[in-house]
Amino acid sequence: MKKNLKFYIVLYLAKLSRIALKLIGRDATYFPGKLAVTLCPDFLGRIDKPKTIIGVTGTNGKTTVCNMIEDVLKENGYEFIDNHLGSNINSGLATALIEGATLLGKQKKELAVFEIDERSSVKIYPYITPTYLVCTNLFRDSLKRNAHTEFISSILSNNIPSQTTLILNGDDLIVSNLSPNNNRIYFGIDRLKTDTDKCENIVRDITVCPKCDSKLEYDFVRYNHIGRAHCIKCNFQSPKINYEVTNIDFEKMQMTIKSKSEEKYDLINNNIINIYNMLATITVLKELGLNQEQINPILKKQKIVDTRYSKEKEGNIEIITQLAKGMNPIACSRAFDYVRKEEGNKAVFILLDDLHEAANSSENIAWHYDTDYEFLNSESIKQILTGGARYLDTYVRLQIAQIPKEKIVHQREETTLVDKLNLKGIDKIFILHDLYSIDLKNQLKKKVKDKILEQNKQTEN
Ligand SMILES: [Zn+2]
Repeated sequence: MKKNLKFYIVLYLAKLSRIALKLIGRDATYFPGKLAVTLCPDFLGRIDKPKTIIGVTGTNGKTTVCNMIEDVLKENGYEFIDNHLGSNINSGLATALIEGATLLGKQKKELAVFEIDERSSVKIYPYITPTYLVCTNLFRDSLKRNAHTEFISSILSNNIPSQTTLILNGDDLIVSNLSPNNNRIYFGIDRLKTDTDKCENIVRDITVCPKCDSKLEYDFVRYNHIGRAHCIKCNFQSPKINYEVTNIDFEKMQMTIKSKSEEKYDLINNNIINIYNMLATITVLKELGLNQEQINPILKKQKIVDTRYSKEKEGNIEIITQLAKGMNPIACSRAFDYVRKEEGNKAVFILLDDLHEAANSSENIAWHYDTDYEFLNSESIKQILTGGARYLDTYVRLQIAQIPKEKIVHQREETTLVDKLNLKGIDKIFILHDLYSIDLKNQLKKKVKDKILEQNKQTEN
């Protein structure tokens, strides 16, 4: 697409708006791009793009994967533009491209890392051709925003440019079938001891063969539809993996990745979700030409941001906070599974609700019923404390999961839940929270710490 006079005018206006916003100390990560795509709807097509573009999409993990890719690139001296402070829709990408462009609309840097919202495919891929597009996974998410995985995978497949090399989760049969004619690289994790033959989750979004509609037989199930499967009638099956984790040593916190050779990488965390995020990151960086020595020392130093996961000890009790994301049944189920599998006696705070203003609330609580609350029905989970606008819905759901009433504390006011926390015999306290309840999580965490300190003081006296 050529640059016309309108394009230049819009580019200058957007650049001016950025300078003006910065002068008055306002956030300039959204508006310039929004202005540009509003005034010139094909702006993304007209502005020059960096030579190499890494795109990251998928339901869960895209922000984490982008952050890891960017950190490794930065530490290795690569210069690039990205949208990590802005939004992951067309206006966010436009803002990053405007910022990175000269007054002639030429890009100053040759590399870009973009987080791309799946639903924005229609507005992005006609104009932007990622060199590599990573897809982490495709799950059902908020029904209101995302409809169904079939809808999301079809808008991706219908819009991803044919020249893009896809870097796909080969353990996700929905992801591995995206744009079947594109060049593709698969990453995956070989069968683990914790994998099963039967699906324990309520939700599994692919159960029949996409080619012939016969039943899919799972070779193993990791969680939901993650695992490996084959069709009982035709030749449809999970793909051959190019970057495969063949061994995970949880004691040494190391994994072995087999591609053309075998390499060891240090794990940041023992949660399988984070191992997938690391594997996706390593795969795209290796394809870009980086080697293990350039990647591992930097990934190793990574910390999962405090807003997603934190762990600290107060006296003998560990306090763990974990993002669970309301309206996203898979993210919640993963968090519940993580809690039940951790050792020791546990108490769990559930701070999930979809009535927060920022969550663009919906009246639809179906996601509670797609979420595996049953995982919380465990002998080692001694108390469950839940609050917030949806506390009664959560209470009903916990009872359907047959969790004894005497284990449940439920009330509207979240902050005073801590008063009812019973610390007796508890080794670990989990605070499962939403993206919108970070402040609340911090408040609760502080109250829990104070309560433990207070108790320890009393036992000392
Ligand atoms: Zn089939």
